[in-house]
Amino acid sequence: MKLPTCASCQHSFTYGEAMRYQFSRRKCPACKQKQFITKSSFVTAGIPSALIVFVLLPIIQIFWGPSFMEYFLVVIGLFVFLTLFLPFLYVFSEKQEPIP
Ligand SMILES: [Zn+2]
Repeated sequence: MKLPTCASCQHSFTYGEAMRYQFSRRKCPACKQKQFITKSSFVTAGIPSALIVFVLLPIIQIFWGPSFMEYFLVVIGLFVFLTLFLPFLYVFSEKQEPIP
């Protein structure tokens, strides 16, 4: 697993910077150039999210039958896990690619 680098100046994002990118300033902290997530890494990052929502959650519901509270905690836990994991999947580019 590796962290993304800036497409403009090759600055390697730290984990904290890549994490912050998800929520706010979508710029390289070194050269202030706006960075966009490439279409292919957007898809790669979407696969684990889709797997969790469409595969894992239904399986949990069918085989475990959690109460609403348990289910809620599982969803929050998975969401946190994904958020922590996603920075490793991003690849940045200088140009925005249209995401279908
Ligand atoms: Zn940069």
